[in-house]
Amino acid sequence: MYRTHTCGELSISNKGENVTLSGWVQRSRDLGGMTFVDLRDRYGITQLVFNMETDAALCLQARKLGREFVIQVSGTVAERSSKNMKLPTGEIEIITESITVLNTSDIPPFTIEDNTDGGDELRMKYRYLDLRRQGVRSNIILRHKMAQEVRRYLDGQGFIEVETPVLIKSTPEGARDFVVPSRLHNGDFYALPQSPQTFKQLLMVAGFDKYFQIVKCFRDEDLRADRQPEFTQIDCEMSFIHQDDILKMFEGLARHLFREIKGLEFEKEFPRMAYEEAMSRYGTDKPDIRFGMSISEITAAVRGKGFPPFDDAEYVGAIAATGCAGYTRKQLDGLTEFVRRPQIGAKGLVWARFEADGTVKSSADKYYGHDELLKVAGLTGAVAGDLILMMAGEREKTLTALGELRLEMGRMLGLRNASVYAPLWVVDFPLLEWDADTGRWYAKHHPFTAPKPEDIQYMETDPGRVHANAYDLVINGTEIGGGSIRIHDRETQSLMFRTLGFTEEEAQKQFGFLLNAFRYGAPPHGGIAFGFDRWTAIMGGSDTIRDFIAFPKNNQARDVMIDTPASIKQEQLDELGIVIRKENK
Ligand code: ASP
Repeated sequence: MYRTHTCGELSISNKGENVTLSGWVQRSRDLGGMTFVDLRDRYGITQLVFNMETDAALCLQARKLGREFVIQVSGTVAERSSKNMKLPTGEIEIITESITVLNTSDIPPFTIEDNTDGGDELRMKYRYLDLRRQGVRSNIILRHKMAQEVRRYLDGQGFIEVETPVLIKSTPEGARDFVVPSRLHNGDFYALPQSPQTFKQLLMVAGFDKYFQIVKCFRDEDLRADRQPEFTQIDCEMSFIHQDDILKMFEGLARHLFREIKGLEFEKEFPRMAYEEAMSRYGTDKPDIRFGMSISEITAAVRGKGFPPFDDAEYVGAIAATGCAGYTRKQLDGLTEFVRRPQIGAKGLVWARFEADGTVKSSADKYYGHDELLKVAGLTGAVAGDLILMMAGEREKTLTALGELRLEMGRMLGLRNASVYAPLWVVDFPLLEWDADTGRWYAKHHPFTAPKPEDIQYMETDPGRVHANAYDLVINGTEIGGGSIRIHDRETQSLMFRTLGFTEEEAQKQFGFLLNAFRYGAPPHGGIAFGFDRWTAIMGGSDTIRDFIAFPKNNQARDVMIDTPASIKQEQLDELGIVIRKENK
């Protein structure tokens, strides 16, 4: 028997018991005649004590134990004289009677403590050691709990978990596919799923009614911060439902997870906001509604007063930063610098201080009289003590920049508290998006999303006007899931493919299986998928998904532990019929 208890289990109620523990040596300290060793396993840390006076041989053996040695010890549980109430086992220690070294360890490349000295790259290379650290381990345990609760809720609602294939044919969902060459069919390729989208729809055609899967998805995208080439979705689909049924069902899932994982209840229904409103008031389709400070359009109020940046602009907008009228010149310059960053790309920032005495002073004082500035203040909802920040330019770009500035102000003012959760449904997305570079329409969500019935008439004449019953769940400014009501008839699906520029043959070649399935009584259906890694990170109060994935890739899409992607043997290439061009190596 390796152990009678785990290292996180013993307390004062076990005083006097004879126990055997196994684990890793976290640290040892020699204090005069005594040696203390912290023994660690998944469950916690227990202090072992060795006394030079009573058992010199054993104490000398303990002093030789290195960090991360795996040992088994037996001894008696005793009350500590100096207690550590921060540790669950902090009231006891083990008066050790024997040690067996089960395995030795090289000196680890970084300290396996909460505050490690290991940099990112090193920790990823030795991820199995990093995972021994309490913080990282508890993230992975949180992920496990989330998965169990997702299954519990969805099973309770009658959902069936079905696995779908990983070697499939490409599904265009906006990203590039990862492809897998076929040995048996030289020259042909499988694609890894960007999501199980078409399969879950086929399961609805098959009459499964309610499907879910916690599933790996793969997207070969240029990596933006905190993206992973392979990630996990909670993927769901339902039949005979309207948008409202889906929002209710999955608001239920969110409530269940918040309750079980965080002990949080939401009294009110999650708010719903139309896409247009999100864009015009928050400059983004994923507003962080933990705080207000929304954007107001002031174009008409500031135009025609001889101030060129405002006169020439398509759009002028403003936010009122609560209580910031006292910002110094330096702080204001800092904000201007912020909006001029290339990622934000604004030309500049105009400010107006709404002073406590009710006067308004602005960087554009020369052009605007006091009453005009008061009017602007009124439009933004500013009150005395607030700072009004204005930006001008092309409408969409300016809104995006104001949205970024709003988030930055929220961050600086401490309004983006990670322990506050503000969920929001964003609804009524446009069906299509025009891409000026390629000169064609793209599906905003994916090509299987249904146009709102009342908008179908504009599909061919004015596609930009068509809205979809598509929705996103946003928590604290992060999109954690999205879905839509689907097209379930051949004609509308063909119309959609046509609008996206597919010829009849191309559509048939790529999606014949789906179009054919729609001939055989496809029920009305719709669904949603959640980013499981991201949702878990949010529940863990973090915005780094990598910390919640046991073996993640780095920001160059590499796994530095197993050192991949890597070349393969010439024989393998030959079998696959693949020749690598020299210039690509
Ligand atoms: N398949 C979609 C996605 O991955 C989600 C959905 O429409 O259900 O974004």
